[in-house]
Amino acid sequence: MARLLAIGECMVELGDAGSGLLRKGFAGDTLNAAYYARTYLPAAVDVAYLSAVGTDLLSQEMLAFIEGKAIVTEDIRQIEGAAPGLYMIHLKDGERSFSYWRSASAARKLADDAAHLRRAIDKADTIIFSGITLAILSPDARETLILELRRAKAAGKRVVFDPNIRPRLWEDAATLRAVVEAGARASTVLLPSFDDEQVHFGDTDPEATIVRYRQWGAETVLVKNGGGDALLSDGGDDVARISPPKVDVVVDTTSAGDSFNGAFLARVLAGVAPAEAAAFAARVAAAVIAHHGALVPAEHLPQA
Ligand code: ADP
Repeated sequence: MARLLAIGECMVELGDAGSGLLRKGFAGDTLNAAYYARTYLPAAVDVAYLSAVGTDLLSQEMLAFIEGKAIVTEDIRQIEGAAPGLYMIHLKDGERSFSYWRSASAARKLADDAAHLRRAIDKADTIIFSGITLAILSPDARETLILELRRAKAAGKRVVFDPNIRPRLWEDAATLRAVVEAGARASTVLLPSFDDEQVHFGDTDPEATIVRYRQWGAETVLVKNGGGDALLSDGGDDVARISPPKVDVVVDTTSAGDSFNGAFLARVLAGVAPAEAAAFAARVAAAVIAHHGALVPAEHLPQA
């Protein structure tokens, strides 16, 4: 059976439910991408998540939540005494901001055991991870994960990387750039967002982002660019432009990039040409930002 494996951190999300009440959810960039991939992949393709959680009640709830989305949890390590990371969404005058409690989260240990990583990656044909996955790890664990991903790439697997740059998660800018480069070199498909790449790598335009990641060994580079055109380079010298649909009212941009990644991968795994898969991903992301929340229910999403 074919399998897509997403690697990263799922957190507990606390949102304002009014009258001083909080609503509990579960989300994280790679889990969101797995959710959208699961939405569009046929049942014959497994979607699995690799992370680490604790053995506490909240961790049990998180596992049940992920299973409830038909995502395989057998590769999620349970670590005695550890607990999941947490974030709270604040809404003030229509603007969202976040508080995080994740510095001691169980997920930081997701790559501490090389043998566990290798077993999980061996079962998969496609692996997706992000810059957030790398940022939360110890320097040793980053090396372990990147080494296993390089092995996967060498074995002919599709290794997909969204640099998803969050400067506050990194110890310094030089480390951020060095580890993102190492992650990219271990990958075959790059799914960066231009605004991040411009700030942290000084790219003057999305074409420059494509050139840089191609030089670092990616076969496919698809640069997201908010409401602007996404740019796709898929091997040759040609660059395809994908214009996202116009969204009249942007309700909540959470998960725009993650949903784009998941939908793109699902279509590519189904054998659709990358340019067509990217156009579909842009339709899915447009629907996602027209609704609240990271994991928009399938009934609000376009049909494949
Ligand atoms: P991220 O959310 O990861 O920063 P982007 O902001 O580049 O990523 O957005 C990801 C994708 O979401 C874009 O490529 C596009 O398809 C879609 N998107 C984002 N903002 C808009 C918008 N204002 N209108 C239409 N589509 C959008």
